Amino acid sequence: MIPQARNSLWYRQAQTAYALNVRSLKVNSDLRKPAGILLAAFLMAEIGCNTAPRLSSGIDVAGMDKTVVPGDDFNLYANGGWMKATPIPADKASFGIFTVLADDTRKKLLALIQESAKGASSTDGDIRKVGDFYSSFMDESAIEAKGIAPLKPKLDGIAGIKSRQDLARAIGSELRADVDALNNTNFETPNLFGVWVTQGLADPSRSYPYLMQGGLGMPDRDYYLSASPHMAELRKQYQAHIQAMLQLAGFDKASERAARIFALETKMAGVHATRVESEDVHTAVSWKREELGSKAPGLDWTSLLTAAGLNDVPVFYIWHPKAVPGLSKLAATESLDAWKDWLAFHTVEDAAPFLPKAFVDERFNFYGKALSGIPEQRPRWQRGMDYTSNALGEAVGKLYAQKYFPAETKAKVQAMVADLIAAFGKRIDALTWMSPNTKSQAKAKLTTLKVGVGYPDHWLDYSGLEIVPGDALGNDQRAQLFEYRRQLAKLHQPVDRGEWWMTPQTVNAVNLPLQNALNFPAAIIQPPYFDANADAAHNYGSMGAIIGHEISHSFDDQGSQFDAEGRLANWWTKEDLEHFKAAGEVLAAQFDAYKPFPDLAVNGHQTLSENIADVAGLLVAYDAYRLSLHGSPDAVKDGFTGDQRFFISFAQSWREKVRDEELRREIATDGHAPAQFRAQTVRNLDGWYDAFQVRPPQKLYLAPENRARIW
Ligand SMILES: [Zn+2]
Repeated sequence: MIPQARNSLWYRQAQTAYALNVRSLKVNSDLRKPAGILLAAFLMAEIGCNTAPRLSSGIDVAGMDKTVVPGDDFNLYANGGWMKATPIPADKASFGIFTVLADDTRKKLLALIQESAKGASSTDGDIRKVGDFYSSFMDESAIEAKGIAPLKPKLDGIAGIKSRQDLARAIGSELRADVDALNNTNFETPNLFGVWVTQGLADPSRSYPYLMQGGLGMPDRDYYLSASPHMAELRKQYQAHIQAMLQLAGFDKASERAARIFALETKMAGVHATRVESEDVHTAVSWKREELGSKAPGLDWTSLLTAAGLNDVPVFYIWHPKAVPGLSKLAATESLDAWKDWLAFHTVEDAAPFLPKAFVDERFNFYGKALSGIPEQRPRWQRGMDYTSNALGEAVGKLYAQKYFPAETKAKVQAMVADLIAAFGKRIDALTWMSPNTKSQAKAKLTTLKVGVGYPDHWLDYSGLEIVPGDALGNDQRAQLFEYRRQLAKLHQPVDRGEWWMTPQTVNAVNLPLQNALNFPAAIIQPPYFDANADAAHNYGSMGAIIGHEISHSFDDQGSQFDAEGRLANWWTKEDLEHFKAAGEVLAAQFDAYKPFPDLAVNGHQTLSENIADVAGLLVAYDAYRLSLHGSPDAVKDGFTGDQRFFISFAQSWREKVRDEELRREIATDGHAPAQFRAQTVRNLDGWYDAFQVRPPQKLYLAPENRARIW
């Protein structure tokens, strides 16, 4: 099976999922595809031509380790100095460019939020809401004083469940828009099902609700079922954590209840699809509303869907057609007491960040320390900032974009995107393996690709969201519900192909296959990824490769399954697919051979789509960079040729240190390979061999026939 769907540049949601309920965003963006201005032209016109001495090389020479032979370990060569000099901060699971930029962006946001907190009398409703949400979270003494009282109504409701019908109603009332199968690829929800609202796989003219498997408190079924001693130890710690949370919330027989909850989740894990299965878009099916009862018997679907606001929906997409019936059956066969305990535990867990310190600390002990190996909790202001940014994503994003993302930067990156699209088009033209008919469909898709740069064209209206000063938990619960209802409203609205799925303040980028669109948020368009004061080699090696990565997803094994309108319709011939698969096997084998632990290797197939996108992105960025030179050699800077700087910038953009526990978690659940191996992607480009004189028997050397040649 070819893994599908890991479309964002990074997948960090599981890491933050314990702290945040990841929710998507909606906006009407009608960005036209940028005009075909070549990046080279604007670089030369606006920030000096590529030989201008005032442009820096953009690379961090001090952060390199020149004692390492580039052909032996290019990541260490480009990043070894930095790795030696940089400890992972105690409150982080990993540390690198990504985290530095995320921290920096948080600081900028904090200043903006504090400003808005001061302006409580502001007439701008959004700004007042941002300020109130943040201040309420930061008022720890008020939160301590309330104790668990804000949660009491929900817990009383659960205690009052007397029948399977009550249970279905309670499960339905908890459903939220908290998963995303194809854009941000978030498959995790502690609710029994996750809901995702977007275009139909077979019908891009309408939005449908997608139901996905859920119910687990740990990241994936493997955590419950794997025989590895590491996972067995985590299971013990998880059960102890459940017990501790129940005790804090005042439940009697906490040990007994924890055992019941853990046993129930283990049964859920038993019917769950694997991560690789989750990524196969072809397993999704559409069921009519009336088929749910017969195809997934057990749950009282009418009660569940009515409580979830979904009972009037005629057709559902079921992303996990085996797990949904499996979970439904458990709702009928497992004891009502176990289900009530499970609901109560997750209610407490979900609310924990907004409850007194004891809850916050216990939650961190498991999700931060045990699961990700983070020794210390992040400062409260950072968490408050993230929750605010999450609850009022575009209100915060608007503040950020207005202050930190000038129109000139937007124009420059739109030009760079156009440049990369042109380079990708040339690659398609030159492919020998792709049939002429497929090529023309690829070009059609390239023409309708919608690229969002920085922020959406229209901002989301938060006037329907009530933020009450001093009600930290209530604010978050209302924000989650507001987002859910907003997503459900899409079921009755025309499809918007300009919808954004990341906030402007997110340091990431994403491909949206059902919209044939890309989002490049403002926060990733800053140094070192994009530096107006650095030369072309640097900007193409870092930001160029990122843009190329996302573009290529529209045309790869996954992109080939979605046509120019976003319909799930394969536009490749059988031969095209066979060639692509065979070419991909070379890359899968390459990544299978990376073994960061004696007992654990990277999964070459789980990460294949992303690794192919990295190769493609680097290739088109390299093409575009060479084109920008117009045949003349680039100047030597900091002792490196232009080609060398291009590849070093690429590897430095993947600079990261990761704690062992976190690295294991990433390898188990992430569709992307760990950053240290992504940096080694260079070994698939002939240009890298020339630039660094890479020869056998250097460790990264690949004979020409073993280099991935896909695009
Ligand atoms: Zn990707």
